Amino acid sequence: MTDSPASRAANLAHLRRRKLAKGDPVPLPLTMASIFNLPGDPAGFRQYGRFDNPTWEAAEEMLGHLENAPAVAFPSGMAAISAIFLALLKTGDRVLLPSDGYYTPRVLAERFLKRLGIEFDLRPTTSYLDGGFDGYRMVFVETPSNPGLDVCDIPAVAAAAHAAGAIVVADNTTMTPYGQLPLDLGADVVVAADTKAPNGHSDMLFGHVTSRDAEIIAAVKDWRKLSGAIPGPFEAWLLHRGLETLEVRFDRMCNSAEIIARRLKDHPKVRAVRFPGLEGDPSHNLAATQMLRFGFLIGLTLGSEAEADAFINNCALIQPATSFGGVHSAAERRARWGDAVDAGFVRLSVGCEPTEELWAAIEASLDAH
Ligand SMILES: *Cc1c(COP(=O)(O)O)cnc(C)c1O
Repeated sequence: MTDSPASRAANLAHLRRRKLAKGDPVPLPLTMASIFNLPGDPAGFRQYGRFDNPTWEAAEEMLGHLENAPAVAFPSGMAAISAIFLALLKTGDRVLLPSDGYYTPRVLAERFLKRLGIEFDLRPTTSYLDGGFDGYRMVFVETPSNPGLDVCDIPAVAAAAHAAGAIVVADNTTMTPYGQLPLDLGADVVVAADTKAPNGHSDMLFGHVTSRDAEIIAAVKDWRKLSGAIPGPFEAWLLHRGLETLEVRFDRMCNSAEIIARRLKDHPKVRAVRFPGLEGDPSHNLAATQMLRFGFLIGLTLGSEAEADAFINNCALIQPATSFGGVHSAAERRARWGDAVDAGFVRLSVGCEPTEELWAAIEASLDAH
């Protein structure tokens, strides 16, 4: 069952209404509870705060509505990624990870999966199909990749990986379910950091796993319950609130990014721009076939580390910070974390500021140095 993004967005705000009794609060109540009233046989009831929580369930219902698949909430994007590794892999399995994606899954694999006898290999996102997938139990894609914004062909990877007997996991953090639906493109599992645009207000961390495979969902739920990697109810409540406005925020952010990327490309101080929405971008053709929008992240390369730092730190409407997807535009030099990018490479997360005001501030900061 795949609805249009507009119909998913329109119905999202009314999901709760179906369950309301007369006199119930229309907004979601926050339920802070470790215990529930539980006399007699506990089967079929909420039992304990590590197993169930009504506020998580409401956030999961929203995520599931957006993903068209059951969703399982986690306390961070990395907790969701750890859950799929530890719930679905065993000793002797091999995983393929992107060499140019978010770096933490690679460090996790190196430090903790390897010693459990789970091996991994790295491959660049743009050549993910090269070499095939024989011998892999799990093929993990991140498209567009963070921070380089390269893309890989999800349907082609899924077809080849499935033929080789692997499951395909897609990290959809950079796009959100309004920008790309990897399950519809053939992925078996989606993981995402709702810390970013889905919450949108940069005030908490959250993540989720979604899949149309009931066994995968059951395994991930067991992992959460047994490992104790549970989200806090207040964070779930904040995500529920954030998701109500995700569609309008994402629309503003993507529209502004399309305009700003074009102008950056023509600016004499900018050496290179990466944005999947630009016709000449290496990601563009593939992005146009599998993404619903081109996203709100722009990669721009300035002449030097000093120029890039000055651009970021002196722009009145750019918050120097790591992370992305918040209402405030934010930027950072990714080389400061050791990403394999140019020293002058800046990842710009376009926020919700009015577009022309934001562009004027960006242009002023570029022109000043
Ligand atoms: C931020 C991010 C994560 C991790 O999310 P946390 O909530 O910080 O744990 C995973 N994948 C991608 C692509 C990210 O950008």
